[in-house]
Amino acid sequence: KSSQPDSQGNLVISGHDHSLSKKQLCKHALNVVQTLQRNNFQAYVVGGCVRDLLLGLNPKDFDVATDAKPHEVKKLFRRSRIVGRRFQIVHVQFGREIIEVTTFRSNTNVKNTHLQQAASGLLTRDNMFGTMEEDASRRDLTINALYYDPTKNTLHDFSGGLEDLKDRTIRIIGDPSTRYKEDPVRLLRVARFAAKLDFHVENKTLKPIAKMAEGLNHVSAPRMFDETLKLFMGGQGLAVFNLLTEFNILQQLLPQTHRLIEQGYPYANKLLAQAMTNTDLRISSKKRVTPAFIYAALLWPPVHKYSLEYQQQGHSANVALNKAANDVIGHQISITAIPKRFTTAMREIWSLQLMLPKRAGNRAKRLSEHPRFRAAYDFILLREQSGEDLNGLGDWWTTYQDASEDQQQEMVNLLTKQQSRRRRSGRRPRGKS
Ligand code: ATP
Ligand code: MG
Repeated sequence: KSSQPDSQGNLVISGHDHSLSKKQLCKHALNVVQTLQRNNFQAYVVGGCVRDLLLGLNPKDFDVATDAKPHEVKKLFRRSRIVGRRFQIVHVQFGREIIEVTTFRSNTNVKNTHLQQAASGLLTRDNMFGTMEEDASRRDLTINALYYDPTKNTLHDFSGGLEDLKDRTIRIIGDPSTRYKEDPVRLLRVARFAAKLDFHVENKTLKPIAKMAEGLNHVSAPRMFDETLKLFMGGQGLAVFNLLTEFNILQQLLPQTHRLIEQGYPYANKLLAQAMTNTDLRISSKKRVTPAFIYAALLWPPVHKYSLEYQQQGHSANVALNKAANDVIGHQISITAIPKRFTTAMREIWSLQLMLPKRAGNRAKRLSEHPRFRAAYDFILLREQSGEDLNGLGDWWTTYQDASEDQQQEMVNLLTKQQSRRRRSGRRPRGKS
């Protein structure tokens, strides 16, 4: 066997013993690594792309790790810029593609940084930089901490990531509780990668999760919003949703909806699961998905409930819905900062739920031309799929959209006739006979 520990005792796997080849890298990542190495720096591709290639998946993007400092990296590439404040990384641009170059970092914890700052009065930025091995141990999961050198065709594994890839295991590096405390987003990343890769979560990694979930309250709302999108729009939303429930962390992300699911509020659990199923299907068939639709579904149970309550207090259906939407969105954005353009669209999807049943006269035609019609119609289908009885509303709209103009007119005429017949016979439109 040609795999052997390097000078520090970490595993180096040579070309015969792994399946990677430099041909699998995108040419820009290879270019960045080779340029750095030509200038006497260490350079590796690292993280998600190595993991995905070893699993036979298509990497989303390529990250490079190096011992070159950000300003040294910047000097080597014309179209590059330093981004990030606390941790500087360099974006090297090739056309529309960006290669992220990160300098090896050590896991200096926040307390230490403060002490160093206080003592010297000056932020000694170099303290954040570290060796390749330190860089490996500050990463989140063993399977995300593999380094590949395309020139030597060697794979570097400091934490047993290769083994875990083979056993399909999610394992956090270091002491799990400590690592979750340092950055609670890692809780979500465990769920995300377990779902995405269909891996099992190793026991020590799993055990503290529920207990640590509260830490998510301290993560900034914009970062939480970004993370929820990765969770729900990654193509395995249903698996993520089930894991979040199992891990007891759904309540940190969506407390209002979670409470109703716990109480068995009608259709709540089914609606969320179905929304995830539909989203996963759309993604796998390369259809567009929007955060607005997903969040409209995630928050529909409380919006529905509060709006009924406002109606009982005497508000009209429209006013009640608006008030409920204000309450629910107002609370949610303190947890996940949903941008305004999406909350606006969510409100429209919800309002249209009240309008799509009203199809008489020229209303159907006007509704079908509403810019948010398609999403609102999909939302009606979603509610029906979750078990709600909407009097065949979804089917009606499905037929309507496929019909010729004459047929559409006929559908509306029929509907108008039925409605006036009901009114004459003194029955309420939805009443049972
Ligand atoms: P994806 O396919 O979603 O991009 P990824 O593993 O590349 O997966 P990124 O968020 O792009 O994930 O992060 C790149 C790498 O940075 C990860 O592989 C991991 O090594 C490290 N990393 C990212 N987030 C964290 C974190 N919160 N804590 C520790 N290490 C992290
Ligand atoms: Mg990545």
